[in-house]
Amino acid sequence: MAGLETAATLRFEPAVRVRRLSRAEEGDHAALALSASYRGERVISIGFGDLESVRQGPAARVVREACWLLKPWGREGRIELRALRRPVRRALLECLDDDDVTLVAAARRKLVLLPAPSEREKLESKLTPTRRKMLRLGERDGERCVWCSTPISYRSIHATLDHIRCRSHGGADALDNLVLSCASCNHRRANAPASSWFEDCLTAGQDVDVDAVLRAIARSHSHHGNALRRAA
Ligand SMILES: [Zn+2]
Repeated sequence: MAGLETAATLRFEPAVRVRRLSRAEEGDHAALALSASYRGERVISIGFGDLESVRQGPAARVVREACWLLKPWGREGRIELRALRRPVRRALLECLDDDDVTLVAAARRKLVLLPAPSEREKLESKLTPTRRKMLRLGERDGERCVWCSTPISYRSIHATLDHIRCRSHGGADALDNLVLSCASCNHRRANAPASSWFEDCLTAGQDVDVDAVLRAIARSHSHHGNALRRAA
């Protein structure tokens, strides 16, 4: 827990501040106050003294808000729930959702929570780098082969990464130089330049995703240009 000790800590006491608000409003006001006072710290410390504020729902909402605020910190973000009396602590643990947070440490007066990864992060962490690129390309251009519109996605066996500027011509492995292509199109294209292969596909009457291809060619030109400028 050395990292936690060196991190700046935001002191925030929603249970104290919101006591005057009506119960229905408490959660939203506490979450709002938390957002307003947050200054980009890696650890958000929230004090709960009041069992009612936990039971009525605000606690869960404030913790969820804290998760959202900590998103830029990824796996480094932590939420500390402090100064908990035993019944308050028990109620808090009951109302916290596994989907939102993971309990990483429990001391007598403190619970330390790690915001749970989003569904997206969980998915990406299970994929190989190649499949992760395919997932992003599918989101950018649609889940199909750009050359023939055969439906493919990062899950498809026949999905391949196709380099707009071929690797043999110095094309990068970056998303800016890649499109999703079926194995058959990728194989037939071989090392043909993207623009002439594009014309071949159109002439052959293939259902080319013209938009995606033109955008990809433009992107790869500017990517390659930038790379050359950096190298110069
Ligand atoms: Zn294809």
